[in-house]
Amino acid sequence: MVKDEGVRGPPSPRPPKPPPHRLPRVELSEEARRLPGLGMTKPAALDALGIRTVKDLLHHLPRRHEDRRSFRPIAKLAEGETAIVRGRVEAVRVVRLRGGMAYVQATVVDESGFLDVRWWNMPWLAKSFPAGTELVLFGKIRKGRLTQPEFEILRDEDPLHAGRIVPIYPLTKGVTAPALRRAAFVALEEAGSKLEDPLPAKLREARGLGPFAEALRDAHFPPSRAALDRAKQRLRYDELFLYQLALAIQRRRTRGQRGVAHKWSRKVDERIRARLPFALTAAQERAVAEILEDLRAKEPMHRLLQGDVGSGKTAVALYAALVSVANRRQVAFLAPTEILARQHFATLSAYLEGSDVRLAILSKSTPPAERKETLARLGAGGIDLVVGTHALLEPDVAFASLALVVVDEHHKFGVGQRTELAKKGVRPDVLVMTATPIPRTLAWTAYGDLDLSVIDEMPPGRIPPKTRILTRGRSGLAYAKVRDEAARGRQSYVVFPLVEESEEIDAKAAEEGCARLAKGPLSGLRVGLVTGRTPFAEREATMDAFRAGALDALVGTTVLEVGVDVADATVMVVENAERFGLSTLHQLRGRIGRGGAASFCFLVAEGRLSEEARARLAVLEATHDGFRIAEEDLRLRGPGEFFGARQHGRWEFRIADLTRDAGVLKEAREDAFALLEEDPKLSTVPGLRAELQRRFGKGVSLYEAG
Ligand code: ADP
Ligand code: MG
Repeated sequence: MVKDEGVRGPPSPRPPKPPPHRLPRVELSEEARRLPGLGMTKPAALDALGIRTVKDLLHHLPRRHEDRRSFRPIAKLAEGETAIVRGRVEAVRVVRLRGGMAYVQATVVDESGFLDVRWWNMPWLAKSFPAGTELVLFGKIRKGRLTQPEFEILRDEDPLHAGRIVPIYPLTKGVTAPALRRAAFVALEEAGSKLEDPLPAKLREARGLGPFAEALRDAHFPPSRAALDRAKQRLRYDELFLYQLALAIQRRRTRGQRGVAHKWSRKVDERIRARLPFALTAAQERAVAEILEDLRAKEPMHRLLQGDVGSGKTAVALYAALVSVANRRQVAFLAPTEILARQHFATLSAYLEGSDVRLAILSKSTPPAERKETLARLGAGGIDLVVGTHALLEPDVAFASLALVVVDEHHKFGVGQRTELAKKGVRPDVLVMTATPIPRTLAWTAYGDLDLSVIDEMPPGRIPPKTRILTRGRSGLAYAKVRDEAARGRQSYVVFPLVEESEEIDAKAAEEGCARLAKGPLSGLRVGLVTGRTPFAEREATMDAFRAGALDALVGTTVLEVGVDVADATVMVVENAERFGLSTLHQLRGRIGRGGAASFCFLVAEGRLSEEARARLAVLEATHDGFRIAEEDLRLRGPGEFFGARQHGRWEFRIADLTRDAGVLKEAREDAFALLEEDPKLSTVPGLRAELQRRFGKGVSLYEAG
């Protein structure tokens, strides 16, 4: 418990001075170094903690607290215990040993007894506490004495570093815990009440939150556990509220612009529906209606379309695209990978066969001559709908009249890229689709400035795959199923995980796995392999063969996850399933059972699974609701992991925790959006603008941050 104190090496040679009774006025904007405690600290060291001004220091919250309220009577101290002692120096002397070593030997007393205290190699300390000095000591009892303890000299006032619930701050080299604690204490005393409360009083009341100054004080130096909890509750709300308010401002800004007001009529509607080989589900209808309203408005649409794998998002996006095309405008369909772009292109081509919609695809592998021609046609308005990858973002890609951008995110597009493409049109409408459901709390933060449409219903006739967890030793069961199904003319996927940073290493693992299977459990079957390092043409050929039914099984790394839509595939075997996130596994199994036949998903786990790992995978056996699975995934892995390594840290808050504070987030979001509606300039709350600026920078532009 003491180790974490953050004081490295011996205690500071000069004891921190208590605050003088009359300080010159301390201003919030003043340099924190002027505060007692930090005078000797180098500005760079404080910079590293993000502390320049007194105000910054007030906002530098403790990482945690340590309860050091109870002093122990000296007579009761036991060997090995971490002791907090309050006493008086009875005698002090410097003991010099041969060879130049020296220690200060002090005897400290309280009502119960005597304690031996030693500080090595700090002879000057002896002068700091002559006999009679009141001291607080903090350290571990070894051999019946305290050696090199942290200490505090008491003058008139209460001790700061013990006898209370003590804040433990994030530290850095060159800033000691006692120094920072002292400075924070003084800053709170002298300037804490000068901070303006960023919350409107009305909100504070409605949500039962205390005043800001009090919360801040208690977050640093809480008089009790209950006070600390209360303070945290307030600051947690603040953090989420301010973030949501920034999103609300962002949203208002984009909505305030002039975009394309699409025209729509019953006739257009009929023509579009005639293109779809099925009737839309009620959930799809709802999403279409929401999108239509946006398209027809003159403000640009910024909408997130969420739905489970196979819920039919593409059909909804196609509806939107055809509205644009009917308006003689252009549509760009942006996919995260080449495979997925090709898949979308194939799907859209099928839907649009026989229509006069002019469709094109643009990707890295488009040959230069073809690319040149496509660009020319795009610029001249000779293409209505273009599907592509990042290649669509390149500066030489120009549109004649881009009016709608559909982004298939798959968690891979940065927000910056989304806006990049938007720049190419006259503020086009933007529809973002996610490949898997995102928990609500994350949707409200990561995509919080977008409006939300949810498809929460599957097309009729789907039988969800039967899912089974197998240990390695029993994986034979899975491959027997692959053989059985192959005998009935059906197809299977086998997926190896991406585990290394390097695609090469993963590809190698998949290659070896594939060779092993082809010789062993799958011998005699027609097996294809696709990994991250399979040359493009070969990969295409393999996929085509699989689609055409010329392969019984397709083995690959998670590149398979996207973009293969084969109705006959009925088995999915996932090797080392314990290494995948739940959402990824759910996404993978969404690839099978599309044809109406019974389908099977086997999750093969390496080694013996811990209770926890097994419970985690069991979620997939128990439910097929992608939203529930996503919530569980978030709870188990946290927001950074949920979005994958690249986005790590972006959705971590300082005090709030999205996996725990969903309720607070909901309230904060409602409050923030309502407040901006009511008071768009935020003129009724004096401290609010400044606090938004402090947190998010000048334009409150969250977009630039990523
Ligand atoms: P998503 O993009 O959400 O994963 P898709 O749009 O690829 O889902 O649709 C999955 C499959 O369901 C496709 O084969 C599609 O043709 C089919 N589908 C979509 N909507 C319907 C519907 N309303 N009725 C029947 N089948 C549908
Ligand atoms: Mg519009």
